[in-house]
Amino acid sequence: MARIIGGIGSSHVPTIGVAYDKNRQDFPAWAPLFKGFEPAFNWLQEKKPDVLVFFYNDHLNAFFYDLYPTFAIGVAPSYGVADEGAGLRPLPALPGHPEFARHIAESMINEEFDLSVFQDRPLDHGVFSPLPLLWPHKDGWPGAVVPIQVNVVQYPLPTAMRCFRLGQALRRAIESYPEDLKVVVVGTGGLSHQIHGERTGYNDTDWDMRFIDLIEKDPMVLAEMKHVDYIRLGGAESVEVIMWLAMRGALSNDIKKVHQNYYLATTTAMTVLVFEENDQTAKNNAIVSQNPQLTGIEDIAGTYAFDIKTGTESIRLNRFFWNMKTPASRAEFEQDEAAACRKAGLTEEETALVRDRNWLGLIKHGANFFVLEKFARLVGQTNLEVYASMRGETFDEFLATRQVPEAR
Ligand code: FE
Repeated sequence: MARIIGGIGSSHVPTIGVAYDKNRQDFPAWAPLFKGFEPAFNWLQEKKPDVLVFFYNDHLNAFFYDLYPTFAIGVAPSYGVADEGAGLRPLPALPGHPEFARHIAESMINEEFDLSVFQDRPLDHGVFSPLPLLWPHKDGWPGAVVPIQVNVVQYPLPTAMRCFRLGQALRRAIESYPEDLKVVVVGTGGLSHQIHGERTGYNDTDWDMRFIDLIEKDPMVLAEMKHVDYIRLGGAESVEVIMWLAMRGALSNDIKKVHQNYYLATTTAMTVLVFEENDQTAKNNAIVSQNPQLTGIEDIAGTYAFDIKTGTESIRLNRFFWNMKTPASRAEFEQDEAAACRKAGLTEEETALVRDRNWLGLIKHGANFFVLEKFARLVGQTNLEVYASMRGETFDEFLATRQVPEAR
């Protein structure tokens, strides 16, 4: 069974990444910060978790206000580093854990935490500011990450209590995963800072120390606070520390703090805390390896549930059809079908299914009907004709099964 062995709370100030990339680890102004991460690095080296689950927020790099999710979980096999305006950082791609992430999504959504699901989106400094200080990566990262994005940039934000309960639900999800994975949960952000308006530069070390104490010993006090309390006490952008509540919610009450570092240099109180679970044995929670909402679907003939597994494994094929919303993609396909399939990276089998307009084959191969119908329009078929094909009937045979065959 998977188990949580500890949790880390960490700031994610972007300048940590800049200083790291410029090798300023030993500069007097930066040494207190980098030295302060070393015990956390060493703890991870000793404990060797297989997976880090990261509660982080995206700073309008991979998501924008056209669609900004409250909670979103990454289910991709790997993640790139977001270009935040200054070019790409020299970091290797970060492995994800699609199967574990899928399980977490299914478990949490079945607990009524309706996470959005993403893939093919890079991660920004919400993850990559602290991660190189926590994990070695010269020859690739030593484990996988499951990123869970939290909206802390556009009100209404999830409440601190909601974040805490999200963490509790994460723990139940992790403890019901059958594989023996060691997991560390990370919450990033903060501590006190404000980086907009006349109050820019606000800090309060006394409040930061109280927060550090409460997150360990009495997180419910923090969970019951309102966003405005965080803003008043720690500065506007420090409200992002609600992501530490998500991390803390995933831990038990039987923890010990094994490391703490606090360094306030310019505008943000840069902090790293490491909590270790005293009891690291696997809990014998019921193994849940399938979405309970779909138990028994295999008995319903001719039906194919489109789930996250299908969505990740057939993303190329689905994007190929999805792109047919644009005139350019349609023109490309009409000009040279085989070339368009090649350009989209379709396999030979997929190309044959496209060539043969094999609608049922495409569905069985993981195409979603709602992208497939865009392709149907392009090749001049109506949905009714596609339905007939999937049922293995002629168009007239299919129409004869309808209440009003003339309504076509
Ligand atoms: Fe932030």
